[in-house]
Amino acid sequence: MKAEIIAVGTEILVGDIVNTNAQFLSRELFNLGIDMYYQTVAGDNPLRLTEAIRLAFGRADMVIFSGGLGPTEDDLTKETVAEYFDVPLLFHEEIKDEIKEYLKGYAKNGYPESNWKQAYIPEGAMILHNQRGTAPGIILEKNGKIAVLLPGPPRELLPMFTEQVVPYLRAKSDFVMESKVVRLFGIGEAKVGEIVCDLMEGSNPTVAPYAKDNEVTLRIAAKGETKEQAEALIETVQKEIENRLGDYIYGYDEENMPRTTAALLMERQLTVACAESCTAGLLTAMLGDIPGISSVLSESVVTYSNEAKMKYLGVLPETLASFGAVSEETAREMAEGIRKTASSDIGVSVTGIAGPDGGTPEKPVGLVYVGVSYRGEVTVKKLNLHGDRTKVRRGTVMHALNAVRECVLKNER
Ligand code: ATP
Ligand code: MG
Repeated sequence: MKAEIIAVGTEILVGDIVNTNAQFLSRELFNLGIDMYYQTVAGDNPLRLTEAIRLAFGRADMVIFSGGLGPTEDDLTKETVAEYFDVPLLFHEEIKDEIKEYLKGYAKNGYPESNWKQAYIPEGAMILHNQRGTAPGIILEKNGKIAVLLPGPPRELLPMFTEQVVPYLRAKSDFVMESKVVRLFGIGEAKVGEIVCDLMEGSNPTVAPYAKDNEVTLRIAAKGETKEQAEALIETVQKEIENRLGDYIYGYDEENMPRTTAALLMERQLTVACAESCTAGLLTAMLGDIPGISSVLSESVVTYSNEAKMKYLGVLPETLASFGAVSEETAREMAEGIRKTASSDIGVSVTGIAGPDGGTPEKPVGLVYVGVSYRGEVTVKKLNLHGDRTKVRRGTVMHALNAVRECVLKNER
C-alpha cells in the first residue's frame, strides 16, 4: 500500500508550529511497512486543499490528514474531503452526545452551536472516537481509496492513531511488520555502515543506520506472514549485528543512555556519587530524571574552582599545579575523592573545557576527562568532543554515563 500525509494548517506553513504529526505518522507508517513517497502541507484554504487531495490520491491508495477538524469556520478538512469523494455529511446524534459529555465541565453558559459541526460525518465512514477532545477522527473508504482524518493536536492524534488506526491498518494488511532498534554508543555512523554494509543490502529484513547526537541507531525491520515469522527474521540479523558490534551496543528500542545506566545501577544495587566540573550538575540532573534513582545516587558536588576541587574532593594542590584542572590526574583524584566522601561503590568525575573560550593548543575546547572509581580502582577516559558548549556538555554526560555502565559490566559479570 502507498500512503501520503497531508497536514492541514496555515500555522505550519508560516512556521508557527512544527509539523511533528507528520514525523510521528511517517515513523508509524514505516514501521507498518507502508510505503510513502510524498508528504504535503496545505493551508486552511479549500481550493488549495482540494488540489493537494487530488494530487495525493493520484499517487497513493491512502491519505492521512492531520488537523482542520475543529469547530471553527477555518477547519475545513472534513468538508473538503467529503466533497472530493462526493459523499454527503450526515448528522450523528450520538456524537453530539459524546461532545456534550466531553464539554460538560466547560459549558456553564450552554454549548456553542459551532460544536455541532463536529457531529457531521461523511456517509458510510468509520468513526474514530476521541477521548481527549471533541473532534472525532474519520476513516472513509471509497473506490479503493482510503482517507484517514485525524485531529491536529498531537495529544489527540497520537493515541487515536495508535489505538484505532494501527489495528485497522494491520487488519487490512496481509503481512505484519516488526522492527527493532539497536542503539550504539562510541562509534560513528560511517564506521557502523562499513561494518554492517552487507546487512544493509538486504530487503527483508532491512537494516538502516541513523546518526543522532551521541549515538548511532540501526533499525532492523522485517515483513512476515505472522508476527513470529517477522521476529525470527529480525533475530537472525540482530545476532549478526551483536556479533560484530556488541561492544558498542548499549540498548534497544526506546532505551536511552541515562535510563540504561540507571537501571543497571539499580538492578545491581550499586551506589554512585558524582563530581562535576564542566557539566555543572547536568550529569546529576540526567540521573535525577529517572524515577527511583534515589536508591543508588548518594550525592554530587559541582566543583568549578581549584579550591573547590581541593576542599570537597581532596584533590592535591600539587596535582592541580603540575597537571592543571583539566587533566587525567585531576579526574582520577576527583572520582576517587567523591567516592570516598560519599562512601559509595562508584565515584564518577568530569573535568573539561566546554568552550567557547578557555581552549589552548595543548588543551583545546572539547578536551574532557571522565574518571570512574569502582571501589578504589580508577579508570580515566580522555575525550576530544566537537561542537558548541551545549554539545560538549551533553556529550560529556553521555560518555560519563557510558563509562559507569561499562565499568559495572566489567566488574560485575
Ligand atoms: P482543534 O479542534 O483544536 O481546532 P483541529 O483538528 O482543527 O483541532 P488544528 O486546528 O489544525 O486541528 O490544530 C490545532 C492545534 O494542533 C494546533 O494549534 C497545533 O498546536 C496542533 N497541530 C496541528 N497540526 C499539527 C501538526 N501537523 N503537527 C503538530 N501539531 C499540530
Ligand atoms: Mg482547528
